[in-house]
Amino acid sequence: MGAQILVIEDNPENLELMRYLLSAFGHSPFHAATGEQGVRIAAERPTHLVLCDLQLPDIDGFEVLRRLRAQPQTARVPIVAVTALAMVGDRERALAAGFDAYVSKPIDPESFVRQVESLMPAELRGRAPAGSKGGA
Ligand code: MN
Repeated sequence: MGAQILVIEDNPENLELMRYLLSAFGHSPFHAATGEQGVRIAAERPTHLVLCDLQLPDIDGFEVLRRLRAQPQTARVPIVAVTALAMVGDRERALAAGFDAYVSKPIDPESFVRQVESLMPAELRGRAPAGSKGGA
């Protein structure tokens, strides 16, 4: 079926990789290049999940998280922190702030979509491997 996924990311290469991988698994990614734009877009169109870079040109990912949680349309949407900061404690800081998951850059193509899909209900996950499910 696939999910509507907002990618808030200012780095073109990371954006393209995430878009490519999500699309390949049947999802529909859309994009914001700044935090404020992301908060607005998520409220304006159906969004099943948000991937949010922590370092953005305007407000940072933590502020994006706070604003998404504060507006009714997006209060319950799963939000995944994506960051290149490989600092010890970064993951804990993101999860403690309220992100539902954490993905570190560089994006690992083998596991990225699986990590993201673990936060979705089964009916929104990408194509199951052939033969894993009957046609009933
Ligand atoms: Mn960035």
